Order: sequence, then C-alpha cells, then structure tokens
Amino acid sequence: MKQDYYEILGVDKGASAAEIKKAYRKKAIKFHPDKNPGDKEAEENFKKAAEAYEILGNPDKKAKYDQYGHAAFDGAGGFGGAGGMNMDDIFSQFGDIFGSAFGGGGFSGFGGFGGGGQRQVKGSNLRIRLKLTLEEIANGVEKKVKVRRKTQAKGVTYKTCSTCNGHGQVTRVTNTILGRMQTATTCTACGGSGQQIDHRPQGADAHGLVVAEETVSIKIPAGVVDGMQLKVTGKGNEAPGNGYAGDLLVAIEEETHPTLKREGDNLHFDLYVSFSEAVLGTSKEIDAVTGKVRIKLEPGIQSGKILRLRGKGIPSINGYGKGDLLVHINVWTPKNINKEQKDFFERMQTNENFVPKPEKSDKSFFEKVKDMFS
Ligand SMILES: [Zn+2]
Repeated sequence: MKQDYYEILGVDKGASAAEIKKAYRKKAIKFHPDKNPGDKEAEENFKKAAEAYEILGNPDKKAKYDQYGHAAFDGAGGFGGAGGMNMDDIFSQFGDIFGSAFGGGGFSGFGGFGGGGQRQVKGSNLRIRLKLTLEEIANGVEKKVKVRRKTQAKGVTYKTCSTCNGHGQVTRVTNTILGRMQTATTCTACGGSGQQIDHRPQGADAHGLVVAEETVSIKIPAGVVDGMQLKVTGKGNEAPGNGYAGDLLVAIEEETHPTLKREGDNLHFDLYVSFSEAVLGTSKEIDAVTGKVRIKLEPGIQSGKILRLRGKGIPSINGYGKGDLLVHINVWTPKNINKEQKDFFERMQTNENFVPKPEKSDKSFFEKVKDMFS
C-alpha cells in the first residue's frame, strides 16, 4: 500500500498551496542528500517528499489525486506517473521551490550523491501532449507520435575530461539555503560524465548531439484519465558519452465526446424519445464506446428514468472491472400539433389513464440522482 501524499508532507487535506510548498521545503531540507551523505533512508524520504509535492503542488494533479488517489497516476503496462521520478526530475523541480540556488541547466547527475567519482549522465526528458478520443481511452490504443529528440551524432567520439580528469566532479564552497557548504559539484565542462567530446562530426552540437525526428510507438492502457502522465523510458534526449537517454513524458488529453459524458469510469447518455414511443414502448440503438448497443424501452416508460447498462463504461485503469453506461430517458413533448391531435389530447385531459399516478418505484429525479451517488 502506497503512503498517502498528505501524510508524507505532514499536512492535512485542507492545506493551502502555500502550506504544501512550505511543508515540502522543510522535508527537502531535512532529507537533502548533501546533509545526509550515504543515508539511504533519508534519500528514500527525500524522493517520497518530492513525489508527493510533484502531485500536491500542481492544482490539476492534486484534484485528480483527491478524486482517484494513487490510482490516478499509477498506470498499467509499465508506465509510471509520479512514481517514476528520479533525482534529475527532483532537482529540476527545485528551481521554483528554492530559487536558482539549486537546479541548473543542462545535464545533471544521477545517483551517487556527495560521493566522489564519475556519474552516469542522463539526457533531458521530452514532454508531449496526446489527444485521445473516448473510444481510444475505453479500448486502449497504440499511438505513433513523431518526436524531435537529440541523439549522438554518427561518428562522434569522447575522451577523458581535462577539467575534472574524468572524476565528473569538482570541489567547491557554495552558499545555499542550507548554509555554507563544501560540496563536490558536478563538473560543468563535462556535465558529470567525466568525458568530453573528442571528435565532433559536422552538424553536431558541443556535446556531439544532433536533433533528429523519430517515430515513437506509445501503448496507452485502457482507462487513462485526462491530465494523467505516462512515461516512455529512454525516449527523451540522449546524453553524451556513456550516458543514457532521458524519458518521453506523455500528458493525456481527453477529447470531448459529441454524445457521451464521462464521470470517472461511468458514462452518461441523454436519450430522447417521442411521446408515442414512451407510451407504446420501443427499442433504440446507442453508440457506446465499445460499439453499438440496443436497448428496449418498456411501454409507459417515464421521462427521467435512468437505465444502467453494466460494464458498458470505461475500464478501470487499475484493471479491476469496468464502469457503466447510464442512459437518461427524456420524453420529447411536441410543441406543434394539428387540429386532430389537439382534439385527441383535449379529450384525454380527463381520461383516467392520463392522470399522473406516480408509484413508489417511480422516484423523482432528485431521489434517483441521490441514489446514484450514495
Ligand atoms: Zn569534467
């Protein structure tokens, strides 16, 4: 069971954005790797706090977390939401928390905090938005997207960095929010890799990288939610030397459906039937996300009735079951009628069969809505 994000930061659910930010600053300072060298537990807590802030510090993500819990971000099929954060992501997040004292552009190291030695450099992440129809979300889909990513140029070679002699780090005294600290900082000449470019092919940048368009295939699991972020590992920018590629982060956008309205895993559909269809009974075909569905309406069906089609909604992102399709019956009252029809309805005004006699089972609209959400 994953720990609650509010619990991790030590704030209650009603906490304001400022309180959440303050709580995170406290945790980040307390568990900062530079303050706790070699302490695995502190590093774990540091990562947990960053993950919690990644969600609670973002109004959209916070709203989703409040509604769905961890399920909103832990996708199926090897995709992780915030769970996939690494130190690179965490330090890039520091810019707006602590100002420019932390963070920094370019490549940042991975692992091995405070210790000496060479770090493996990770390329930066790429971010894209991906629009999906409700049908694609309901059934899951494989999407091919074109991304422009940096890759190592053909023929590029690297040698030991002359600034840090291949150590990847230089010792420096810095003033930070944590006080005056002597720290081994990443070598800016090589970005911490301990390597620098040897042969730079034509067209390559100072790191030996070129930008190339690539088609990436992304498997979207069924049941994703608008705003959710999927991660395709290793499809971000490549790093120079023996570094490894960053990730491609895919933000899901749900297109508005012309007739269906999504509410969690359930779908709602407004069905309009004529007055005579309601009296005589009928059968109707509905475009559900999984294909057409035929439903039967009994003679005498009341306006406002909700028919629940079990399992015709969106599959749960966790893989447990499916939502339902709720069909709302709306009886269409004719506005223009001819003389003959008018005569008929005038006669029916006092007819016993036309006098409303709501039964216990014909609950009012508000009672039904109350039942649905209880
Ligand atoms: Zn260096």
